[in-house]
Amino acid sequence: DSFLQLNLSRPLLRACETLGYSKPTPIQAACIPLALTGRDICGSAITGSGKTAAFALPTLERLLFRPKRMHAIRVLILTPTRELAAQVHSMIEKLAQFTDIRCCLIVGGLSTKVQEAALRSMPDIVVATPGRMIDHLRNSMSVDLDDLSVLILDEADRLLELGFNAEIQELVRVCPKKRQTMLFSATMTEEVDDLIKLSLSKPLRLSA
Ligand code: AMP
Repeated sequence: DSFLQLNLSRPLLRACETLGYSKPTPIQAACIPLALTGRDICGSAITGSGKTAAFALPTLERLLFRPKRMHAIRVLILTPTRELAAQVHSMIEKLAQFTDIRCCLIVGGLSTKVQEAALRSMPDIVVATPGRMIDHLRNSMSVDLDDLSVLILDEADRLLELGFNAEIQELVRVCPKKRQTMLFSATMTEEVDDLIKLSLSKPLRLSA
């Protein structure tokens, strides 16, 4: 079991090596090959399991081989809190350090103007908290989700506990129907199940 067996390209393998990852964690070994096929995935995984790289690596890999349209967001990652969003953003910047893929952070507490500029600067990936993402979607011309190919709902149970259900539903509605969706949650509650039904199509279920 090594990253070499996971069909990731060189810049991503190099990033894993630089980060000192010698072998995939169980959730990574399970998730990466399936996510590379483009199927929807729902995973029960907790923080510390390596779930961020489990969804980020196959997403980066698929971006590397897709032509890019100007000004288009290709991946949206929703997380419950600013802190988690910042961690996910930082992890993705590290994993993407040998590629030209760009990631921006959209959270409350940071200047809306600065974030609007970031959204206009053609990021491939946006990591956001739902409230702030909705603000940008409603109030500015800088958000275009027409070319989105991957939607990731991280810590879905906490997203719902914090009352973001309406925001998530609104964001899911504006995403293209033809997309890959991955949802991760520490616990699988009835509410999480409803969100899975609403936003995922024939998901593969993983746990680690
Ligand atoms: P996460 O569960 O995504 O929050 O990751 C928890 C921690 O594990 C982070 O500090 C990662 O950098 C680290 N990590 C992720 N994947 C691996 C790996 N394959 N080998 C060693 N550490 C890892």
